[in-house]
Amino acid sequence: MMLALALAATIRIGVFGLFHPVELEVQPARGSVLMVEIAGERQVIEGAHSVRIRSAALVTGRGRRPVRFVVSVPGQIHREFLGRLEIREQSGTLTAIVEMDRETAVASIVAAESPGTPFEARKAQAVAARSFLAGSRGRHDGFDFCDTTHCQFLREPPSPTSAAGRAAAETRGLALTYQGHVLAALYSANCGGHTRTLQEAGWKVGEYPYFAVECPMRGVVSGHRLGLCQEGAAEMARRGATFREILSHYFPATTLGE
Ligand SMILES: [Zn+2]
Ligand SMILES: [Zn+2]
Repeated sequence: MMLALALAATIRIGVFGLFHPVELEVQPARGSVLMVEIAGERQVIEGAHSVRIRSAALVTGRGRRPVRFVVSVPGQIHREFLGRLEIREQSGTLTAIVEMDRETAVASIVAAESPGTPFEARKAQAVAARSFLAGSRGRHDGFDFCDTTHCQFLREPPSPTSAAGRAAAETRGLALTYQGHVLAALYSANCGGHTRTLQEAGWKVGEYPYFAVECPMRGVVSGHRLGLCQEGAAEMARRGATFREILSHYFPATTLGE
């Protein structure tokens, strides 16, 4: 099945919104050179230099290409990203929007969501994350996703040779579909032995109803219990299941499309 999963797709993630920053500090990651555009003025930032920003700005690499950079809310949080950074300003408060390649986001999500789990479970997580990113857009005004549990918790991009990076690469382009559309797949940490339908969870019933399936993993419930159970997926993988088997177990009636 052909889906609208262009390999070059980018997504826009709003970061640090919880901090309502009035000032952001940006510096190049090691070896990077940043082009910082503020009010039509362009400056080059490299080496150990950084720039403090209190207004609208655009941070890219040369030729406006994606670049590795570190952005921080001074004294509160800092994080490295690979992409382009747009800063918007409204009434003195800044909104930081990172535009990144969707595959970079998938690898970052796998790194954040499934540390230390078996490789097939990581691949299942990669497909679920890609499906979520491709199947849901415009959850916020001006960007697609935020970096909190409301949308998707993000970590710094892992190296391509890390397990998370390889899980993304080896499932590249694969997404879950239901009735011909990419499913904005949900996942949570531990279903406690049984996942739920949307209706059982009291959520608005969408196109895909979700299904209550048995899970090989018991334990303390953590999360909404919809879709992929991360602990259960890890247990299935330990018992020899492939990522395809894991996905078809937690997402009945879906197909894996490319
Ligand atoms: Zn959000
Ligand atoms: Zn479970």
